[in-house]
Amino acid sequence: MGLGVLLNQRASHDSLPHDLVLALGAATLCVCVFYIDSFTNIESAIAVLYVVVLMMSSPILNGSGLALLVVWCTCLTLFSFVYGHGTSSDISVVVRLIVSLSALYLTFGLLVKNDASRIALFRANSNLQASEARYRAIFEQSRIALWERDYTGLREFVLQLKEEGVEDLRSYCAENPAVFPQATALIKTIDANRAAMELIDATGITNASAIVHDFIAPDDNAFLELMTTIFEGRRFFEGKGTITTRAGRVRHVLISLAFPERSEDFNRVVVGMIDITEREIAEKALAEARADLMGALRLSAVGALTASLAHELNQPLGAIVMNAQTLDRWIDRTPPDIESAKRSIDRIVRDAQRASNIIGNTRSKIRNQPPLLENFCLATMVEETRALMEYELRSAGVNMEIAVRNRIPPVFGSRIELQQVLINLVTNSIQAFEGSQASRRSIKVDVEQEASNVLISVTDNGPGISQAVRDKLFTPFQTTKKNGTGIGLSICRSAMEALGGGLKVATEGDVGASFQMRIPLRASYVG
Ligand code: ADP
Repeated sequence: MGLGVLLNQRASHDSLPHDLVLALGAATLCVCVFYIDSFTNIESAIAVLYVVVLMMSSPILNGSGLALLVVWCTCLTLFSFVYGHGTSSDISVVVRLIVSLSALYLTFGLLVKNDASRIALFRANSNLQASEARYRAIFEQSRIALWERDYTGLREFVLQLKEEGVEDLRSYCAENPAVFPQATALIKTIDANRAAMELIDATGITNASAIVHDFIAPDDNAFLELMTTIFEGRRFFEGKGTITTRAGRVRHVLISLAFPERSEDFNRVVVGMIDITEREIAEKALAEARADLMGALRLSAVGALTASLAHELNQPLGAIVMNAQTLDRWIDRTPPDIESAKRSIDRIVRDAQRASNIIGNTRSKIRNQPPLLENFCLATMVEETRALMEYELRSAGVNMEIAVRNRIPPVFGSRIELQQVLINLVTNSIQAFEGSQASRRSIKVDVEQEASNVLISVTDNGPGISQAVRDKLFTPFQTTKKNGTGIGLSICRSAMEALGGGLKVATEGDVGASFQMRIPLRASYVG
C-alpha cells in the first residue's frame, strides 16, 4: 500500500514526465490559492480555483486520490475562511465559501463519473486487444493452414451471374471454362499463417496478400462447389480440392469454411485447409493393393474350382472305369451275359451323366450363376447315392444303412450339390476304414426333420477324428491321407452354407465319426 493506490492505472505506467509536470503545477497552484485566500484581502471566491487543482490532478489520480484531494482542498478552504474571517457572519463571505465548496464537490462528482466511463472504455479496449491477440496466436500457431480471404468480389461475380439468369452454375461453368480463372482472380488474400505458406511452398514470401490464387487447379471441382455454395446462399462449405504449389508439387487438401451471414463481412472469411495428400496416396495404394488381391483371389478361385472339379469327378470317373471293366467281363463270357452287360452300361451312362452334371454345376459357379434349384425327395436321393456308391462300399466291405425317421416333405434345393456332399461324406467314411481293425464296417445315414430343416447324419464306426484334426477339419488342404487333397469338407461346407444350410462334425468321442448336414426345406441360394 502506498501512493500507488491513489494513482490511476494509466498514470502509473505511461507518460511519467508529463504527469510529474501536472502534479507539480497542481501543487503550486494549490499553494498559491491557499496563500491568496488566507493571507491577502482579495474579496472574491478565490477558493473556486481549487477546482482547477482538482482538474489538473484528475489524469494522475484515481477516484480515491481525487476524494482525498477534495477533502484536503476543503480543509484548506475552511482554514482560510476561519483564519481570514473568524466567526464573521457576513452573508457574502459565507456565500463565497458555499460557492467554492459546491464547485469543488460538483467538479469532483463529474470527474469521478468521467473516470468510471474512461475505465470502462479502457477495459473494453484491452479486452478487445486481448481477444485479437488470442485470435492471432491461434491463427499463427495452428498447424492447419489458415487463410483470411476477401470473397466480396467472388460473391458479387457469382450473384451477378444469377441475376443474368444463370440457373445451374455447374453446367454454366462446364460450358464456359473461362469463368474459373476470372473467378479465382477475384479472391484476395488478406493474411495466411505459416502452415498455409508451407502448404503452397511460399515460406519465402512475407506478404501473404501478394499471393495470387493461381495454385487452384483450373478444373478443380472443389472450387466449383465453393462457388455453388455462394450461388445457392448456403453458408458452410467443405470439400476435397487439389492445389499446385509454387514448387510444382500437387497436393490434395480438405477445405473447410463458413461464410458470414452479412454480405459486408465477406471481406474477411477464414478458410482452413488440411493436407491430405499422404492419406490420398495411402488410399490409392490400398485400392490398388485391393485390386491386385482381387485378381489373385480370382486366380486362386480358379485354382480352387479346378481342384474341386478334380475331386468331385474322381468318384464318377472311377465308377465308370470300374463298370466298364465289369462290362468287359460280362461280354467276354461264353455265352456273353447280355442282361448283366446292359446293367453295367446303364450304370456307365448314369455315372457319365453325373460327371456331366458336376461339370455343368462348376461352370455355373464360374459364371457366378446360382445352381439349379428343384423340388425333390431327400430320402430318394439318399437311396440313389447308396446305389451309386455300391461298388466302393462293396469293395471296402462296408455296410451302409439308411434310417428315415418320420415322413420327410420334399425339399427345394440343389439336388446335385446335396448329393455331392453326401457322396463326399460317405467316401470319407469308406476311406477312414482303410487300415482300421473294425470287425464290422458300417455307415449309418439318418434322415430326420427338425423344424424347417432336414438333418442328414452320416455316422461310421471307423477310427474317429482326433482333436487336432477336428480343429482344422474344414480348413482347405488339411488332410491326413497320403493321396488326399484336404478340400472335400471345405467344399461341402461352402456348398451347404450357400444353400442356407450347414455342415458340422457331430462326433463326441474318438470312436467313429459323425457328420451332420442341415438342409433348409426351402433353400435360398446365397453363393
Ligand atoms: P481329404 O479327404 O482329401 O483328406 P477332406 O476335407 O474330405 O479331405 O477331409 C479332411 C480330413 O478329415 C481327412 O484327411 C481326415 O483326416 C478327416 N476325416 C474326414 N472324414 C472322416 C471320417 N469319417 N473319419 C475320420 N476322419 C475323417
